Amino acid sequence: SHRVVLGPLVGSIDQGTSSTRFLVFNAKTAELLSHHQVEIKQKFPKEGWVEQDPKEILQSVYECVEKTCEKLNQLNVDITNIKAIGVSNQRETTVVWDKTTGEPLYDAIVWLDLRTQPTVERLLKIIPGENKSFFKTRTGLPLSTYFSAVKLRWLLDNVEEIRQAVRDGRAMFGTIDSWLIWSLTGGKNGGVHCTDITNASRTMLFNIHSLEWDSELCHFFDVPMEILPKVRSSSEIYGLMKSGALTGVPISGCLGDQSAALVGQMCFKDGQAKNTYGTGCFLLCNTGQKPVLSEHGLLTTVAYKLGRDKPVCYALEGSVAIAGAVVRWLRDNLGIVKSSSEVEKLAAEVGTSYGCYFVPAFSGLYAPYWEPSARGIICGLTQFTNKNHIAFAALEAVCFQTREILDAMNKDCGIPLSELQVDGGMTNNKILMQLQADILCIPVVKPSMPETTALGAAMAAGAAEGVGVWSLNPGDLTAVTWERFEPQINPEESEYRYARWKKAVMKSMGWET
Ligand code: ADP
Repeated sequence: SHRVVLGPLVGSIDQGTSSTRFLVFNAKTAELLSHHQVEIKQKFPKEGWVEQDPKEILQSVYECVEKTCEKLNQLNVDITNIKAIGVSNQRETTVVWDKTTGEPLYDAIVWLDLRTQPTVERLLKIIPGENKSFFKTRTGLPLSTYFSAVKLRWLLDNVEEIRQAVRDGRAMFGTIDSWLIWSLTGGKNGGVHCTDITNASRTMLFNIHSLEWDSELCHFFDVPMEILPKVRSSSEIYGLMKSGALTGVPISGCLGDQSAALVGQMCFKDGQAKNTYGTGCFLLCNTGQKPVLSEHGLLTTVAYKLGRDKPVCYALEGSVAIAGAVVRWLRDNLGIVKSSSEVEKLAAEVGTSYGCYFVPAFSGLYAPYWEPSARGIICGLTQFTNKNHIAFAALEAVCFQTREILDAMNKDCGIPLSELQVDGGMTNNKILMQLQADILCIPVVKPSMPETTALGAAMAAGAAEGVGVWSLNPGDLTAVTWERFEPQINPEESEYRYARWKKAVMKSMGWET
C-alpha cells in the first residue's frame, strides 16, 4: 500500500517516568502517523529511593526513533519529511555526567525519590523560621525532596566521583532533557548543554521572575554554577541529531512533560487548564504572563516560552506524586493484575469500593499538603472486601486527589473550572474518567489522541524559528476530536465519598516522623 502524506512531519521524543516514546505527527493537523514505546526500568535500591539508568534512557530513545522510522518506511512514508524533533521529559529527575567520557557519574535520581528528606531537614534548619515556603516567591516552589536542587546537593555530598569531576571541571548537571539533548547532539564530541525554561523552573535554582539561574539560591544549595546548562526558550533550534535515521534533523522544541501537555491541549489562554494522568497526576492552569502565587499549596511554574522573542507564560500547578504508579504497584507488588489496563475490568466487576479507601501516599503527599511524613494506607476494610474493591479504591484515589487540587486551584484563581481537559496514559481507562466526572461534579473532556504531551513538544519544535512548519493555530488541529464524560451521580453522594476520603488522608499523615 502506498501512503501519500502531504506536508511536513515533526517527531517527538516523550521521555516519561514509566516509558520512552517517539511519535511522528503530521504538522498542522496533528495526525499521529506512527510511534514506538519502550518501558523504562525503575530501581528501588533502598526504601524510598527511585533510580533510573541514564544510559538505558538514552538507548530507549535511540531504539524508539529507529523503530518508528522503520514503521514509517513500511507505511511508505518518506522520513525525510521529518523537519524537526521536539523533546518532552519527566521533570526534576537529576543526572550528573562526565563531559569528557559522556558517561553518567551516578544513576538518575528520579523526581519521586525520597532519599533527600534528611537533606531537606538539614537545609530547613538554616532557613529563617524553618519556613519551607521561604523561597516560594522567587522559585514558585516549597523546599521539598521533589525538586532537583536537593537531589544535586545529595549527589555532591555523597558521591566522591562527582565531587572529583566538579573539581576537574568535567561535571555536567542536567535534568533528562539536558542529558538527552547533549547526548543526541553529539555528546562528548560537541554536544549542546542546555535546558529549556520550563525544566529550569523545576530545579529550585532558577528565578522565575528574572528568568535566570539565581546565584543566591546556588549559594544556598552550595551548587557550582559552572555545571548548570544554558537556559533557552522552549521553541528554538538547540542543535542537530548527530546519529541514526534522523541525522541532521534539528532538535527545536523542549518542554517539561506537564508544560508540553498544556501546549498539546492548546491551553494558551488565561484560565485554561489540563490534568495529565501518568505515573503522577498534574493539573496545570495557565495564568498568562504573570506568575500567580498560591495560597493553597499549589506551585507556580513556567508554562512555556515559545520562542526567544516570545513572552513567557506561567501556570499554577497541583502535583500529585502517585496516580498511575498505584496501578503499577497493584501489578508489580500485589500481582492482582497482569497489566495496568486489567484494573479497569476488576473495578468494573464491582462498580464500588464498598467503603474501602486507599491513600497511596508512597512518597509522602504532594499538593496541597506537602507532607513528607505521610505513608500509604488502605482503610475501611471488612470481611467482604476483595481485590476488586481495592482496585476500585485505587482508581478512586486518583480522582479524589485531583478533586483536592482542583478545589485549591478554584480558590487561588477565583473562577471555578467548568470542565476539565484530561490526557495521559491512565485516561484510556473509561471507568476512571467516569469516576472523575462523578467526583468533580463537572464534565471531563478527553482528546481522541491522548498523546498530548508528545504533541505539545512537536508543536514547539515545528513552530521554531528556522523550522516554521507549524503555526500553533488551534483551528488547524483537525485530527483531534473530543470525548466527554458527564457527572452521573448526585452531588450529595459525591460529597459524602469525598469527606470519607479526607478522613482517610488524615490517617495517612504523620506515620513516618
Ligand atoms: P508517564 O508519562 O508518567 O510515563 P503514562 O502517561 O505513560 O505515564 O501513563 C502510564 C501510567 O498509567 C502507568 O503508571 C500505568 O500503570 C498507568 N495506566 C496505563 N494504562 C492504564 C489503564 N488502562 N488503567 C489504569 N492505569 C493505567
